Amino acid sequence: MKEQIYTIPVLDAFKSKHECPFCQLYETLERNSINFTLGPSYMEGDVRTETNKKGFCLPHYQMMTKEKNSLGVALMIHTHMNEVHTHLSSLLKKEVPNKGKSSLFSAFSKKDSGEENLHPVQQYLNLIHNSCYICDQIESTFNRYVDTFFYLWKKDDSFSKLVEECNGFCLDHFSLIYGIAPKSLSEKQLSDFYKLIVPLQSRHFERVIEDLDWFIKKFDYRYENEPWKNSQDAVARSIVKVAGVSKS
Ligand SMILES: [Zn+2]
Ligand SMILES: [Zn+2]
Repeated sequence: MKEQIYTIPVLDAFKSKHECPFCQLYETLERNSINFTLGPSYMEGDVRTETNKKGFCLPHYQMMTKEKNSLGVALMIHTHMNEVHTHLSSLLKKEVPNKGKSSLFSAFSKKDSGEENLHPVQQYLNLIHNSCYICDQIESTFNRYVDTFFYLWKKDDSFSKLVEECNGFCLDHFSLIYGIAPKSLSEKQLSDFYKLIVPLQSRHFERVIEDLDWFIKKFDYRYENEPWKNSQDAVARSIVKVAGVSKS
């Protein structure tokens, strides 16, 4: 029963006619996370500790400012800025970067970050720039959805039929499942998987190119009186196909 928390949304996304079922899942998680963050929860201590520390990425700041809770956004940014200011001020009191002596700061470096040569001030600012409370909330559940996708592929024979009938994927999520598959599937399962998803992706990529082609033709007077066919929303759908909706 616990599995249904993940399997139901995955199955629903694959039944939808979205240009990428994973983008559909991402969009739902993003919407839920924004609603949660701007709901009563932002006044709760543990949530605020996290938002103060992480802040948000630019797309999520922009999405939140479009919601009807500018006080909530202001309160979260205010305490986040205060925390950043306090931490940054203390780092800025330490030594400034030394000309040609990057190793001087090795004592402050994080071994696993690959940022050994950066000054602690830069390391901290990079961390702040790349951290987002909403992105982090989305990520853990999204990763479970990806695991569930492969789980269903292995355990449920009818799932491959559902995948075959979907509209393919955005480039980013195609790359994701294309790359993860060898870690999740046996050799035989892997061969069946690629036999299905590679032509599927190609077919649907071409379909969207054709829709876009027809959309462009409709601006030519010779096609003026022709029907729009499936192309009226071709620009929005083609952007999903090439750019997806997630930042990952
Ligand atoms: Zn996608
Ligand atoms: Zn974000």
